[in-house]
Amino acid sequence: MHIAGNPGTLSERQRELVDLAAQLGRERFAPRAAAHDRDASFPFDNYQDLRASGLLAICVPQASGGLGADFATYAMVAAEIGRHCGATALSFAMHVSPCLWSGLVADALAMSPAQRAEHERFRAAHFGNIVERGQLYSQPFSEDGAAAAGQAPWGTLAHPVDGGYRVSGRKTFASLAGAADFYGVLCTLERPAATPLDALYLAVPAGAAGVSAVGDWDPLGMRGTVSRTLVLDDVFVPHSARLLPEGLYAEAAARFPHMFTTQSPTYMGLAQAAYDFTVQYLRGEVPGMAPVKRRMYPTKQIAVAQMRITLEQTRALFLQSARDAGVDPDDDTRQRLLAAHYTVMENANDLARLAIRTCGGQSLLKSLPLERLYRDSRCGSLMLPWTAELCLDRLGREGLYEGGESDEAIE
Ligand SMILES: Cc1cc2nc3c(=O)[nH]c(=O)nc-3n(C[C@H](O)[C@H](O)[C@H](O)COP(=O)(O)OP(=O)(O)OC[C@H]3O[C@@H](n4cnc5c(N)ncnc54)[C@H](O)[C@@H]3O)c2cc1C
Repeated sequence: MHIAGNPGTLSERQRELVDLAAQLGRERFAPRAAAHDRDASFPFDNYQDLRASGLLAICVPQASGGLGADFATYAMVAAEIGRHCGATALSFAMHVSPCLWSGLVADALAMSPAQRAEHERFRAAHFGNIVERGQLYSQPFSEDGAAAAGQAPWGTLAHPVDGGYRVSGRKTFASLAGAADFYGVLCTLERPAATPLDALYLAVPAGAAGVSAVGDWDPLGMRGTVSRTLVLDDVFVPHSARLLPEGLYAEAAARFPHMFTTQSPTYMGLAQAAYDFTVQYLRGEVPGMAPVKRRMYPTKQIAVAQMRITLEQTRALFLQSARDAGVDPDDDTRQRLLAAHYTVMENANDLARLAIRTCGGQSLLKSLPLERLYRDSRCGSLMLPWTAELCLDRLGREGLYEGGESDEAIE
């Protein structure tokens, strides 16, 4: 089954890239997934394959030597990766995100000629790090407190100094901690009465003095992301580290909400994997297991039918919203995006739950991938700022209130 449903709807380039991800996923990532999950180790081996295949540069513009994929193409490729290793897909999204912010999103924003020229120069260096040196980026935005939900300025501060900034702060759940070459952090440009509009997006070199990854990493799921805490202690970062010009991140975030759904593909892939496994298991075709068929029981057939329906509903919303990606979506498109992101995250875990119920006790064994899919899929709904809860909050509010409306104004 193709991750994008009917592959005939894809361009030839999209088909090639998804096929490439499928081959890597099947032959390389899936066989390694259990060990990275058991050891909570970062999949450097998978990233070596992604590097060699060119997929590390999937969203680097072609003019800068990358593959120049748009959002929908990224989404389908990442979902195919997630089908074979959820943790690799999650960290891949964190690597690709700075490319998207700095590339496709920045291209849609207005800049002065001087800002544009400087941005082109800075991003050329970042893109060169990926294309020529195969370096890894990441996106540690989250902090303890209200900033990650978009309710307060970032607590990580960038103090302007000659030639750049001195950055201090603490980022929680920094996927690729200790693995990335650059951490794409959001901080607040230090000034009196700073607000979320003063957010500044910098690529902090992992080797800079004052950067460290601290703490344990022993979570329920997504163990191969190695999302330890990142500490930035008075780190000097040059101006050229900017991934977006000063003052533009808040505008980019408001005008390109699809950037908060870059994890949808991970969970689309896990949803597909839960279905794939169930069919394989009931047909008695799981490698290494006795070829016992269980497909003849009507209850199993109904469960598979229910799973397929949920899977196709999930895929339809996933693909539509990925294809909708663009600057300034209208209210209807924004709400559909929230609905899609919520659906993908929650349905992935629901499908994994149904898969375990249907396959039975043996599917709990660590020797099979299903219990990992169950644990990994639980993590999606917790990713700020678009957790499942916050998607519901926003969807309800935005459905009932038009822009600028309040109850006081109505009464
Ligand atoms: C495996 C994994 C990898 C991750 N990788 C990254 C990464 O690379 N980069 C990154 O930036 N983050 C990453 N995160 C962090 C993630 O995005 C969240 O920031 C994190 O899960 C928040 O956890 P918390 O318990 O601190 O949440 P809290 O802030 O305590 O929130 C708990 C819950 O309360 C709800 N909530 C929070 N704020 C509000 C509000 N204002 N109004 C209403 N409800 C609210 C939300 O539903 C949330 O799930 C990762 C998380 C996981 C689990």
